[in-house]
Amino acid sequence: TKERNKNDYQIFKTSFTDGFKERLTLETELHKAIKNKNFELYFQPQIDIKTKNIIGLEALCRWNHPEKGVISPNEFIPLAEKTGLIIELGDWVLREACRQNKLWQDLGFNKVKVSVNLSAKQFLQRDLVQNIEHILKDTGLDPEYLELEITESMAMSNEKFIIETLKGFQDLGVNVALDDFGTGYSSLKYLSQFPLSKLKIDRLFIQNRTEQNIAIVKTIIHLSHSLNLRVIAEGVENEDDLLFLNNENCDEVQGFYFSKPLPVNEVDSLFHKKLS
Ligand code: C2E
Ligand code: CA
Ligand code: CA
Ligand code: CA
Repeated sequence: TKERNKNDYQIFKTSFTDGFKERLTLETELHKAIKNKNFELYFQPQIDIKTKNIIGLEALCRWNHPEKGVISPNEFIPLAEKTGLIIELGDWVLREACRQNKLWQDLGFNKVKVSVNLSAKQFLQRDLVQNIEHILKDTGLDPEYLELEITESMAMSNEKFIIETLKGFQDLGVNVALDDFGTGYSSLKYLSQFPLSKLKIDRLFIQNRTEQNIAIVKTIIHLSHSLNLRVIAEGVENEDDLLFLNNENCDEVQGFYFSKPLPVNEVDSLFHKKLS
């Protein structure tokens, strides 16, 4: 009926405008936050499964909002990506991660890699390799202690350009890991053509160990090793997860079982002890 249609429209119109307003506000605030540097990096340890030593730290971005508190990257990274703000934010993340890692090294802590997530738009920047070279020079971090995490979806678009960029990283001495592996459109062709150093198994496969997912994890680990890549599993939440991955010969693990992502001062104290 007409009545119903009118109401439906009303509902649609209200929620549409609300969502639109909310997004506009968030976008404006994101602009401001980038200008005011209201972001903070948290770091989550990556552990060598055999020695149990921390060998890396993944940098994960947090937005410290004056009223809303800490906002998760799942809420602002997609918006930053859509609006292009990710370029500036991503630059800050890269620089901050390198600066902090160099600082830890200067303090005499064990040298570890810092892993930085790259977004698709960032990855497609023509001057990304040069930019990273500058950041490494400015911060004084040795390239071997920086790792970049890219996802399969980025690897899809312009194959030639991707390979060129990845070769650029390789020439710099920077490692690249393929994140969320198994969830995208992986092509075995890419795996052999891309100069990568690591595959990162998505936590979906670790946390939901159906017969099929177990088979997938085993396959990814075998695949990594036959391509001479290291392999890390994320989302390791309990001892069973760890035992399973140890059994399957996974090289590295990351997850709440060892540590959640931590602010800088808590990483400092973590460096003093070996995780069990
Ligand atoms: P990701 O790269 O897959 O990062 C792993 C996410 O899993 C992190 O969420 C981490 O806190 C969470 N995690 C770690 N261990 C466990 C576990 O044992 N169990 C469970 N359930 N979760 C675990 P976070 O920090 O909220 O980040 C979410 C996503 O936001 C990241 O997923 C990444 O795609 C993106 N992101 C975060 N920081 C940045 C950044 O600086 N740049 C870009 N481009 N993306 C970022
Ligand atoms: Ca990641
Ligand atoms: Ca991941
Ligand atoms: Ca993920």
